Amino acid sequence: MTAPAHVKKSQSSYRLGVSRQLWIGALAAVFLSTVLAGIILFHVSQLLFQARHAVVGLEELRQVLDTASRITAERAPSNVLMAGEVGQIETARARLNTARAETDRALNQAATIVATVPYNDIMRHLVQARALVELAAAETPVRYESVQHATEALFATYDAYQAVVMSKAAELIHSDPELAGPVQHALILCALRDDAGRLGSSIIAPLIANIPMPESNIANGERLNGRIKMQRQLLSLSPDLNDRSPFPVSLRAEAEASLVKNGELLVARFVAEGTHGSAYSISAAAFSDRYVQALKPLEVWRTAYLDSLLADYKQKEQQAWGLAWVVGTIMLCVISLIAGGVLLVHQRVLQPLLVASEAVVNLAHREPVQFPLTHHGSPELNPLFEAVALLDLKLREWDADTQRLRHQAETDELTGLLNRRAFQMLGEPWLETAGADRNAFLILLDIDHFKSINDRYGHATGDQVLIMVANALMAHVRSDDLVGRIGGEEFAVLIRAQDQETATALAHRLRKGVEDIFMLAATGEKISVTSSFGVAANKNLTWRQFMAKADVALYAAKQAGRNCVRLAEQDMADGAV
Ligand code: GH3
Ligand code: MG
Ligand code: MG
Repeated sequence: MTAPAHVKKSQSSYRLGVSRQLWIGALAAVFLSTVLAGIILFHVSQLLFQARHAVVGLEELRQVLDTASRITAERAPSNVLMAGEVGQIETARARLNTARAETDRALNQAATIVATVPYNDIMRHLVQARALVELAAAETPVRYESVQHATEALFATYDAYQAVVMSKAAELIHSDPELAGPVQHALILCALRDDAGRLGSSIIAPLIANIPMPESNIANGERLNGRIKMQRQLLSLSPDLNDRSPFPVSLRAEAEASLVKNGELLVARFVAEGTHGSAYSISAAAFSDRYVQALKPLEVWRTAYLDSLLADYKQKEQQAWGLAWVVGTIMLCVISLIAGGVLLVHQRVLQPLLVASEAVVNLAHREPVQFPLTHHGSPELNPLFEAVALLDLKLREWDADTQRLRHQAETDELTGLLNRRAFQMLGEPWLETAGADRNAFLILLDIDHFKSINDRYGHATGDQVLIMVANALMAHVRSDDLVGRIGGEEFAVLIRAQDQETATALAHRLRKGVEDIFMLAATGEKISVTSSFGVAANKNLTWRQFMAKADVALYAAKQAGRNCVRLAEQDMADGAV
């Protein structure tokens, strides 16, 4: 009942197969998740890159527009200085110096942002404009033409700077077309602020020179009014850009109201006053101050708009970071879950299954198995391990039963010696392993006239005699000799001996042992028992030949008168008994 040899092999191939499949599956899942996460992360990084780029670009645009504002802001204190009102000059000079320093600083910064800044051209205009302002301011009384020239030169500086603004705007829109709307909106806001400023400056020269409003100034003012109207319309065309959160909508209404009420109407009033003469209701410096105040909300609107635009893109950048973080975390979780799952299945299912199968195979091979089996299997596998333990118990019981049955099948019930079948079964391989070993000897013995013992003392007494003979034989042999009862009153002893003398000497001792059996019959009569012995040496014989040879020798002993030992005739040549 040997297990097929492939059982052990298949166990290891099963281990390999399932483990490998499990890990290949897990690796495939990890690979696919990584590819998926890679695709998502690629798109997220694009978003992130775009948002970052937009944030940097918008910050730079704001700086460039701030510089434009600085150039615009130089006009108001220049006007006040040129107006040269007593008591105002010192303050105006200080304000102008501050404004000029801020313009210079802003221009220097802009030069680092836009590589192609036509810096020389801008500076030429700026220096010229400032010189004209100084010239006008130095005149007493100040002439209309001087102020007009200085004002136009300041306008020209702003216009020269527009090359920088446009360059930055174009660069930004080119890199991200989505920014076109917001950028154009910011540019219009900036232009609106500048044109509104120019509207005020358009009447400053007649005001300072205290002359009636010339036609050219009125025409210029009307042209600027038209542009301002158009810019306001353009700005109102993008309500979604105006209403962007957290940009407060009210800022726009406030700025427009201030521009119309405190700016345009103020200018219209002076134009009306200047049409009929030069009796202006307030001074140029006072007008300049009021006008600057009127345009303040426009500044606030523009700044707030750019702030909200930036905040919007910063938020997009944050969201992209957040998305990247979430995707990365999910990816890590998925990989950990897959790896953890595989390890869990490996540890809690596969490994325990292998332990159980190994135990079953070992049990089948009757190899030792240590119970209880050590494993970290999930509780669902407990019935399996209980079944393996039960199998072990049952196998032990079956082994014990088999042992008992085999013992019964191999043992002679009466004497406890090997029966004929068992004697042959053990003797044959014993002989085969001995091979050409001449030292194997077979002694056959048969009780003499046993029938008459039975007849005289009864069958039970005959049985007792058989037991006594068996004991006598056992008393004279070694533990590795085989002794069997091979017939009714026939016994056999298979031994190893140095030579046939030693073997026959043992046969003689056995004969003497049987002869010496002391036994009384029920009648008190002494029962005399003798037996005849045949001895044969192996000499490459088959079992059958060996038995036959010894049997012939035994027959010879019977023929010779019984109670004697005879060596097989073929062996006689090697030496007589
Ligand atoms: P020989 O000296 O020629 O061997 O004479 P024998 O009487 O011993 O031989 P035979 O073959 O004529 O008789 C053997 C007897 O052994 C016959 C049988 O009744 C008896 N016998 C066989 N088995 C048993 C047994 O188990 N118990 C008893 N009491 N007698 C048995
Ligand atoms: Mg007989
Ligand atoms: Mg006999």
